[in-house]
Amino acid sequence: MKTFENIDAKSVKEAVALLQKFHQQKKSASVVGGGSEYLQLMKDHVVEPDYVINLKTIPGLDYIKEERGGVRIGALAKLADIEEHPVIREKLVILSDAAGVAASPQIRNAGTIAGNICQRPFCWYFRSSSFNCLRKGGQVCYTVTGDGRFHAILGGGPSYIVHPSDTAPALVALGAQIKTAGPAGEKTLPLEKFFVLPSVDYKRENILNPGEIVSEIYVPIPKPGSKGFYHKVRERLAWDHAIVAIATMVESAGGVVRDARVVMGGVAPIPWRGK
Ligand SMILES: Cc1cc2nc3c(=O)[nH]c(=O)nc-3n(C[C@H](O)[C@H](O)[C@H](O)COP(=O)(O)OP(=O)(O)OC[C@H]3O[C@@H](n4cnc5c(N)ncnc54)[C@H](O)[C@@H]3O)c2cc1C
Repeated sequence: MKTFENIDAKSVKEAVALLQKFHQQKKSASVVGGGSEYLQLMKDHVVEPDYVINLKTIPGLDYIKEERGGVRIGALAKLADIEEHPVIREKLVILSDAAGVAASPQIRNAGTIAGNICQRPFCWYFRSSSFNCLRKGGQVCYTVTGDGRFHAILGGGPSYIVHPSDTAPALVALGAQIKTAGPAGEKTLPLEKFFVLPSVDYKRENILNPGEIVSEIYVPIPKPGSKGFYHKVRERLAWDHAIVAIATMVESAGGVVRDARVVMGGVAPIPWRGK
């Protein structure tokens, strides 16, 4: 692994200021939550940052609170805590179910919600230092002529990665919002608009600009009469990403469907909403 400097951030503001400073100095820097995904990328020489800004040292950013008709989830809330939280189990069942089938118990005990949503693609060409693929600055997406199993069947091109997170399709089906913090302040937007298709920009997976981080997810509690489910199909039951996952929320009243959201994971470069 390339030598890097670890900096323990004490606040979101400090983390943003550090990212901005290193960006201006043309040094590479990245934030980590649990580090369960990012450190592997570093060990595999896929990313080689000069500075790693540890967010886990920011006190209190792992909250899960019921408020304003919804649940506010701090960026550092762990997948295991989301899976087991009584309010999420009762009122946001599909999120609890999705968090509970992501990765392995060990990773869920370390992995944060922000890290889960921002994790990089699990494409074997992207993850291998032997391939300088399109997403890493090369000329070719190797899935086109290579082994395209587990790659995008919807929304792909020119890169054919699939979005790997289990919680993101569930959160999009629930109509969640994401809050980001950056040099220009905070922004809140629907999570559905956070992800970027490769046809728009194949070098990024989301709208975060240099210096910006995720600080919170807000999930509205579904209206009475709503039902949903999260179903994940994978090759094996131990720590495996979805071949396809479906997150569905249907709101009905008086026997009439008022609203329906069907979102697929594992088949497209973003959580794919079947409209
Ligand atoms: C073997 C294995 C199997 C897995 N299987 C699954 C699976 O089935 N389903 C699934 O959903 N996931 C799966 N994962 C991914 C796993 O869920 C993630 O590793 C974990 O959720 C990442 O959380 P983290 O806090 O450790 O992220 P980190 O490793 O700290 O970071 C991941 C990425 O997110 C960025 N990041 C972290 N926090 C923030 C923030 N606040 N703002 C902006 N960017 C941020 C980092 O810069 C990095 O790019 C698997 C991982 C492994 C290693």
